[in-house]
Amino acid sequence: LSRLVHDLLDLAQLEGDSYPLTMEPIVFAQLIHDVLDQMAFVADKKSITFKRTLEEDCIVYGDSDRLQQVIRNLLDNAIHYTPSGKSISIELQVHQSVAELRVTDEGNGIPKEDLPHVSERFYRVNKARTRKDGGSGLGLAIVYQIIKKHHGTFNIQSEPGFGTTAIIQLPNAPFNESSPTL
Ligand code: ATP
Ligand code: MG
Repeated sequence: LSRLVHDLLDLAQLEGDSYPLTMEPIVFAQLIHDVLDQMAFVADKKSITFKRTLEEDCIVYGDSDRLQQVIRNLLDNAIHYTPSGKSISIELQVHQSVAELRVTDEGNGIPKEDLPHVSERFYRVNKARTRKDGGSGLGLAIVYQIIKKHHGTFNIQSEPGFGTTAIIQLPNAPFNESSPTL
């Protein structure tokens, strides 16, 4: 319950303007490596392996804590909704001043009719899920708000039965008048 309350308060603050981001240049691949290392233990317990393909010199301008939170939430889902023994690939590429992060799992996927709604607060595909089994449906709503505050985009593609890919795009240079519009 305490995590639910924490996530809900966090989301409320992100939706308002009461929680400004602390923006700084970030070596994005390093931040991603750090989160992957922190979560390797959880993945290990399910015999899930991470496959990393990260463009190491990509710089984004952002809030380090908040971007870690985004990656944690995406990996949390990828691990949670993927059967044991499968792998999760994490790719970071830069094209045309845009840093693109893709987190792809080999889980059950998300039904087409649910896909447009999964970033809404409290939305869960399996509504009957027991408390032991499930989250509160806030993780992706938080991701959406954080990425929006970074002037980025957040999309999910999914093929039921094959897996899901979460895609984040951020400007790869300091945000200013000439930053690309996504
Ligand atoms: P919380 O993140 O608050 O612990 P949650 O994981 O249920 O709970 P979200 O992360 O917002 O909430 O995800 C919303 C719903 O989208 C999930 O309940 C699940 O049904 C679906 N979902 C999200 N990511 C995946 C994924 N990688 N594969 C399959 N389904 C997913
Ligand atoms: Mg989640």
